[in-house]
Amino acid sequence: MEIAIIGAGPGGLACARVLQLHGIDVTVYDADASVTARDQGGTLDIHADTGQIALADAGLTTEFAALARPESQSKRMLDPSGALVMEHVVDDDETAAPEIDRRQLREMLAASLWPGTVRWGHKVTEVRDGGRIRFADGSSVTAGLVIGADGAWSRVRPLLTAATPEYTGVTFVEVRFDDVDDRHPAIAALVGAGHMWANGDGRSIILQRNSGGHVRGYLGLTVAADWRGGRAELLERFACFAPELRRVITDSEGDLVHRPIFALPAPLTWPHRPGLTLLGDAAHLMAPFGGEGVNLALLDGAELAREIAAGPAPDEAVLRYERRMLARSGPVAAGANAAIKEFFEGAFDPADVPDFAEEAERWKRNAAEYLAARDS
Ligand SMILES: Cc1cc2nc3c(=O)[nH]c(=O)nc-3n(C[C@H](O)[C@H](O)[C@H](O)COP(=O)(O)OP(=O)(O)OC[C@H]3O[C@@H](n4cnc5c(N)ncnc54)[C@H](O)[C@@H]3O)c2cc1C
Repeated sequence: MEIAIIGAGPGGLACARVLQLHGIDVTVYDADASVTARDQGGTLDIHADTGQIALADAGLTTEFAALARPESQSKRMLDPSGALVMEHVVDDDETAAPEIDRRQLREMLAASLWPGTVRWGHKVTEVRDGGRIRFADGSSVTAGLVIGADGAWSRVRPLLTAATPEYTGVTFVEVRFDDVDDRHPAIAALVGAGHMWANGDGRSIILQRNSGGHVRGYLGLTVAADWRGGRAELLERFACFAPELRRVITDSEGDLVHRPIFALPAPLTWPHRPGLTLLGDAAHLMAPFGGEGVNLALLDGAELAREIAAGPAPDEAVLRYERRMLARSGPVAAGANAAIKEFFEGAFDPADVPDFAEEAERWKRNAAEYLAARDS
């Protein structure tokens, strides 16, 4: 049976890799012209109990460890005056959720596939009953199983559910700093080795260290979905933040990138349909609160591939995968969507600071339980 994965994001690539490790042929179609065609965004923490299990199933633990930045799990939290509310410093040997640039993760996964597996430059315009996939250049192919791993605006999802992503009310404005330690020492001091959040007044300034001396920042605020305010307007909207924090707006390089945050209604389910399924953001696009999106996408991909490999019939495998994936992702997505609303509607309460050490222990404990249950 021909298996087609639409989307070469982390989830689709992980699925393809695990299928191939089991000797199963698969073709991945992606709209991007190449693996490096587009800025892939910031850094991602890969959790022990989800993303890291998927990378182990993909035989890529060593490759991941070579690229990952354990020290970037360190976190600093400030209030709008710039006062330190919390600092969580992490050692180099912490395995709970090391960071990796999204670009590096995608390239690592793509490089692990059989040559020619990913057909770049194949933008899907429509998927029809019977597995007919049409591309923007007018060509088409047919597959016995079509896996929609094509993210927020999936072309496969409409065949399974009428649900569409809704605007959360929150936009993240992305900013960038290059060569941060030499050219932006004040920003380097704010971000430390990992992440910084300055929260208050229903707004958030986030900084995250990426590899190669880069820092990305996000200014989170409640605005209309089509709001595209510039630096002057951001300075007004973040007027109650200290001058050293507002440097994130004034000192950043290049254009601002506005990212209105959309999420699917959660929990989302659909009646099973033979020959079709979804994984990752296509199945459960959620607010980026808790950093679960990419981790669930990776685990979805690995679990779906393992089920298909276990057989006997692909359709039964997909059913088993969907039952488990939908039960797992629904509550996580509902929690993330509620958290973003609560956060941006309310004033920041220092009592809301998460216990990061406890969270790290929980991910490791959950990983051990997941693996023990699977091996039993
Ligand atoms: C601002 C922001 C910050 C985030 N931070 C985090 C975080 O810290 N931690 C975390 O876990 N998650 C985070 N996320 C979410 C995370 O990026 C996603 O959950 C994750 O990328 C989902 O992976 P995926 O493989 O399902 O989909 P995607 O990564 O979206 O990949 C989809 C792929 O499908 C391709 N595609 C799309 N449409 C078509 C088409 N019509 N035809 C062919 N190909 C197509 C795309 O080119 C892409 O390669 C964040 C998201 C945002 C917006």
